[in-house]
Amino acid sequence: MTEITCKLLVIGAGPGGYTCAIRAGQLGINTIIVEAEKPGGTCLNVGCIPSKALIHAAGEYETITGATEGKSALGISCAKPSLDFARTIAWKDGIVRRLNGGVAGLLKKAGVRLIAGHARFVDGKSIEVETRSGPQMIRAETVVIATGSEPIPIPSLPFGDRVISSTEALALTEIPNRLVVVGGGYIGLELGTAFKKLGAAVTVVEAAPRILPQYDGELSAPVGRSLSALGVTVLTGAKAKALAADGKALAVETASGEQTSLEADKILVTVGRRPATSGFGLETLDLDTIGPFLRIDDRCRTSMRGVFAIGDVTGEPMLAHRAMAQGEMVAEIVAGRRRAWDRVSIPAICFTDPEIVTVGLAPSEASGRGFEIKTDHFPFRANGRALTLEHEDGFIRTVARADNHLLLGIQGVGAGIAELSAAFSLALEMGARLDDVAMTIHAHPTQSEGFHEAALKSLGHAIHI
Ligand code: FAD
Repeated sequence: MTEITCKLLVIGAGPGGYTCAIRAGQLGINTIIVEAEKPGGTCLNVGCIPSKALIHAAGEYETITGATEGKSALGISCAKPSLDFARTIAWKDGIVRRLNGGVAGLLKKAGVRLIAGHARFVDGKSIEVETRSGPQMIRAETVVIATGSEPIPIPSLPFGDRVISSTEALALTEIPNRLVVVGGGYIGLELGTAFKKLGAAVTVVEAAPRILPQYDGELSAPVGRSLSALGVTVLTGAKAKALAADGKALAVETASGEQTSLEADKILVTVGRRPATSGFGLETLDLDTIGPFLRIDDRCRTSMRGVFAIGDVTGEPMLAHRAMAQGEMVAEIVAGRRRAWDRVSIPAICFTDPEIVTVGLAPSEASGRGFEIKTDHFPFRANGRALTLEHEDGFIRTVARADNHLLLGIQGVGAGIAELSAAFSLALEMGARLDDVAMTIHAHPTQSEGFHEAALKSLGHAIHI
């Protein structure tokens, strides 16, 4: 077996791992990154990017279809559109391929060696990789575990054939006539909405009393209204049991305890993701865990000296930008810089229709932490730009300390507001107060004026409502 050495070895080239490796390369650290699949990880290959491509395609198709059905308030009409889904998928795959190549190119530019193969721990400093040309031993001073996460199956409804995870849903070659989505969290609703817009009959089965249980009810309500307007059937308080005897339907227990079955061509199970911690000898290291996740400190150090962990494998929020921020920080720590996790907030976006953005604390969370708060929201029905874009449903909400007006959280729901997350995050990181937002000139006409107005409203002097 050949043997090589390096200062830093990163296992997994998802957003956490590749960002860590690129930054380490920039800092002159001799770095190797090992990836079993394609560079970019879940996010680029079977997560963020392909799902957003599909959502965009579905939105375009729905707009045109609406026009053919006389639903366009803008007076636009056209003949019935057709959908060549194979081309849609080819377009999506083209974006993914381009970005795969981009990540590989960036690693190369930073002087990082990318080794393709499945890594396995021999001990805390030595990893064996099954490469195409045979086994390769790599010894490193420091190791970063960035192996990510995988979909959680329902034991009575294992993946296979009709029962699929988000990974298979993003690789379908035709639109299922009837799609049942088990799990009304962000992944299930993003994909369910896209397939409905593309022509599938979609039913969502959610065990909690409402969809998007991780968001507060005020934020999820506009999404619920939109799903209903789209014609998505949502069963809340309902439990998916198992495939029916003929394998063509899903047995469900409804909120009232009734047993029913939902015929489905595909059953998309999106009930959560679990850390990828098995199958690569991690148990030999006996690292501390918190539940299923690896325990890390504020520098992403695990319980073993010289072994760091970043990204989904370390717990919630399982988001690409958190993984990237951790990766960058760890590279700088390995280079000898003084860094620790000191971020005020990690934004989270749900790319449903409308989109939800949350940054910092929701009102109930802030009150729960003992803050006396000032909170208010500004509705998009009073925002000119939102009306011109037909984006009337939704609002922006600010949560601030009552005593000194320091912003603790900013949330919003509305079509196309994902891009506002940057302004929200910056405000929180910079320690902005309601008065700072109120004193900032926001360009007109933009949906961002809703942020300005929410701050003004909280201060008691909104102009446009
Ligand atoms: P991953 O991206 O999971 O990468 C881990 C990599 O490690 C993989 O490439 C894997 O092959 C490799 N690996 C694992 N074990 C080994 C081994 N032993 N040897 C070699 N390689 C190994 N997040 C957002 O922020 N925004 C979104 O809009 C969003 N949308 C999503 C949509 C879907 C459908 C899904 C499933 C996820 C979405 N996410 C989104 C979550 C996001 O994809 C993850 O948070 C992110 O990818 C985590 O990055 P990571 O680097 O920790 O791990």
